[in-house]
Amino acid sequence: RQPVDSPLYPLLAAAADYYRQALKSHATRKSAVEYLKGRGLSGVIARDFGLGFAPPGWDNLMKHLGGDALQQKALIDAGLLIENAENGKRYDRFRDRVMFPIRDSRGRVIAFGGRVLGDDKPKYLNSPETPVFHKGQELYGLYEARQANRDLDEIMVVEGYMDVIALAQQGLRNAVATLGTATSEEHLKRLFRIVPSVLFCFDGDAAGRKAAWRALEATLPNLQDGRRARFLFLPDGEDPDTLVRAEGTDAFRARIQQHSQPLADYFFQQLSDEADPRSLEGKAHLATLAAPLIEKIPGANLRALMRQRLTEITGLNGEALQHMAAAPTTTP
Ligand code: ATP
Ligand code: MN
Ligand code: MN
Ligand code: MN
Repeated sequence: RQPVDSPLYPLLAAAADYYRQALKSHATRKSAVEYLKGRGLSGVIARDFGLGFAPPGWDNLMKHLGGDALQQKALIDAGLLIENAENGKRYDRFRDRVMFPIRDSRGRVIAFGGRVLGDDKPKYLNSPETPVFHKGQELYGLYEARQANRDLDEIMVVEGYMDVIALAQQGLRNAVATLGTATSEEHLKRLFRIVPSVLFCFDGDAAGRKAAWRALEATLPNLQDGRRARFLFLPDGEDPDTLVRAEGTDAFRARIQQHSQPLADYFFQQLSDEADPRSLEGKAHLATLAAPLIEKIPGANLRALMRQRLTEITGLNGEALQHMAAAPTTTP
């Protein structure tokens, strides 16, 4: 996945050290420490996730690691410095932000996310794509989750860095986040190599609900029999961070057990919202939407059960449905 060896790894590790040290001892550290405390985080969690601080100023990291022109070029390749295209001036990408190192499955730092301490925009800044960082493939917190628990049985997928960390702070050390991208088939493939069960828990807002459906679509081709996915929908305005801090670990765990929805249930409920199965037209539409998606499931048993369920809902028999799944849905 990543190059076995790249000169960028030691640079990224040195940058992570610098940011971590700055959180401990830089003259301007206080605002960052207060910020993290204000979000309920302890020193232990900050250490486990290697959190750091990029101090305010244009060239803190450059001065610390800068060296010669060659070194600066490498820092640009690593996404840590930016070069102004017009005047060639170089400056630190991350300034006055709390820093989240993103690690690969071996624990090597491959990129960073940085959050402003207040309400400025953009709220989060991520490293660009680099030779060692392909954000569509990475999952924030996966290395840390595996470190905390060698035999995970379920991984929770959330939206944000702070969701992963707040859950870990509350003792739920099995959360990972996609990095501002949609959950992909590639993500799911990786997760199911590690655990048989994935729990999606996105924000209780329109974006979160949209993300859930996209996650379902990415999951279908990965659903061998013996695997499962479930969805926990949060109350409006909440995300895992706010909710777990508001209600505590036990209540959050109970919420998962009582309210998470198996993929198949969410699937039929969502499609029934789109195409009302009380009318024949709705049934017909629902079948058109559902049949091709069900055929993506590699698990023969689950696929058969979902076809059967579709038959119960629409009254269309198996043969008609299979025909539909194979046929193009548009008319010439
Ligand atoms: P916080 O709790 O720190 O305010 P959040 O994680 O709840 O942030 P959301 O707005 O819910 O923030 O966004 C979810 C995730 O999407 C973020 O954690 C981040 O990875 C990504 N993201 C959000 N805003 C941006 C942005 N402006 N640029 C890049 N990525 C972003
Ligand atoms: Mn959100
Ligand atoms: Mn949040
Ligand atoms: Mn959020």
